[in-house]
Amino acid sequence: MNGYGGKILRVNLTTGKITTEPTPKELAERFLGGRGFGIYFLYTEVPKGADPLGPENKLIFSSGPLSGTLTPGAGKLDVTCKSPLTGGYASANVGGHITAELKYAGYDSIIIEGASEKPVYLFIDDDEVQIRDADDLWGKGSLTVEAELKKRLGEEFQIATIGPGGENMVKYACITHDFGRQAGRGGVGAVMGSKKLKAIAIHGTKDIPVANPEELLRLGKEMYAACKASDAYEAWTKYGTSGVNVWSNEVGSFPVRNFWTGALEDYSTLSGETMRKKIVITDKACFGCPCPCGKYSHSKKYKVFVEGPEYETAALIGGNCYLLDIEDVAYANWLCDELGVDSISTGNVIAFAIECYEKGIITKEDTGGLELRWGDPQVVFTLIEKIARREGIGAILAEGVKYASQKWDKGSEEFAIHVKGMEMSGYESRNAPAMLLSYMTCDVVAHHNRSWAITYDIQVGRDKISPDKAAKVIELQHVRPLFDCLGACRLQWVELGIDLQLYPPILKAITGVDRSWDDLMKISERVWNLTRMYWVREIEGFGREWDYPPPRTYKEPVPSGPTKGKLVKWEDVQKLLDMYYEQRGWDKNGIPTREKLAELGLTEIIG
Ligand code: SF4
Repeated sequence: MNGYGGKILRVNLTTGKITTEPTPKELAERFLGGRGFGIYFLYTEVPKGADPLGPENKLIFSSGPLSGTLTPGAGKLDVTCKSPLTGGYASANVGGHITAELKYAGYDSIIIEGASEKPVYLFIDDDEVQIRDADDLWGKGSLTVEAELKKRLGEEFQIATIGPGGENMVKYACITHDFGRQAGRGGVGAVMGSKKLKAIAIHGTKDIPVANPEELLRLGKEMYAACKASDAYEAWTKYGTSGVNVWSNEVGSFPVRNFWTGALEDYSTLSGETMRKKIVITDKACFGCPCPCGKYSHSKKYKVFVEGPEYETAALIGGNCYLLDIEDVAYANWLCDELGVDSISTGNVIAFAIECYEKGIITKEDTGGLELRWGDPQVVFTLIEKIARREGIGAILAEGVKYASQKWDKGSEEFAIHVKGMEMSGYESRNAPAMLLSYMTCDVVAHHNRSWAITYDIQVGRDKISPDKAAKVIELQHVRPLFDCLGACRLQWVELGIDLQLYPPILKAITGVDRSWDDLMKISERVWNLTRMYWVREIEGFGREWDYPPPRTYKEPVPSGPTKGKLVKWEDVQKLLDMYYEQRGWDKNGIPTREKLAELGLTEIIG
């Protein structure tokens, strides 16, 4: 099948059985690849009510039809499973080079089933697939193991690993690849740890069959040229996502001290400029990317090399925990990477714990004698270690903010910053209703990457509560995650502004299938609705209340900065949901109607 590796690889870690099957043509037509394949396999193969950390859950790695081709940024891999953090749908996306290698080995997806009794890693060299012993790797850090496996197997192998956080099933443990790229959110690393799978090592040498190679070359060159010609190219490649740090403070959306406020008084110490001057040593790109947003850094203070810190880490570890020295943030970033925990959720849970301590909800008795203070790097470093190893207070924080707030109670739910149990990524949204709606309705929960609607709020009026805001959120929720089905990076469009209409022709050149942009949007809507139905199936009583934002966003006006005095009123939260559900063709409880499911051809899957 043109554009695809052609096979699905199944590895059962309970029985040791390894099988392959052809990638179904109909699956590719209806779900494209990447997260489309992920949710299809999750919905149809993992039984309702499965324990996310039990052997029934599956861990699904999927490339897409653009992965490994000459499309700019064709290096994105989706990881799907049932989330141990939320009990719902988890899909995390990672860049680097592993998705291309997977395709070159001849596979579109790897489905990991069951669980091993002892630590193992998966070795894939084209058709040779083995489950290998990983006893000597267990307990080691993600970056360390990646280097070790490259030494043993060869630089040409692409490696994805978990750290101690994944081994200890921290509910927001991540999977690390390419020395600093993460499939970060929802606890995909914990599921890998529950299966005792330390790493996956892949090498492939096969061709990807392509319908029209000449046309692919022509269109690929055109897209690369469009990237390089963008006015934003220079700034994007110089600063990457750290270029957002200053803007976010200026518009009052930078989370500070557990999303208490939306801007630092002095944010120059965390600016992209400061980072570039103080710690960045080189730029780093994913497979086939002409605009390297990765910043590889060296902290002289802590003597570590780290990719980043990205915007999200600067926001959640920097602003949110109040670490204002970029070197402190870089070291916390390195700890998160090596220990294998998501820096977004980690920054959230630490900030939540500090606020609980500040308010007297927890004391030194709860913290093991540690005094939790804003802006103390040693407190942050110690808590990251404790979380990853589930030591003392770390055992509670490893379960996430929702669990900790229920455990400590005493009104702490009022400032527990999560939606559906997952911690919010780095945009304070009390003066950005469309952004807040994006968090409320996001299928992977409280994550900016599906719909980054804050720029639309700013463009059309931040206080406005109107149907066009719901429409924009829906549009973005179809466009942005489409890239996770295609197996490519969306930032060439988001940041460099290349034309979305360039994608259907190159997809046609690769697959031979003629699809319009509207056809692709319909596929993305199908995937979105299937993920929603997964939540409905797995969470008893799932509906509108699950989409409510954290109380702080509608009860506490912003106390300072450019958005001082703002909040999204409770009645506006309800209005936003009403407008959103109606435009999606869902009922008032936020459940897709039978008509909508039939329109998307999902009724036979859902039953
Ligand atoms: Fe990777 Fe950044 Fe390029 Fe996207 S823009 S492919 S994240 S280096």
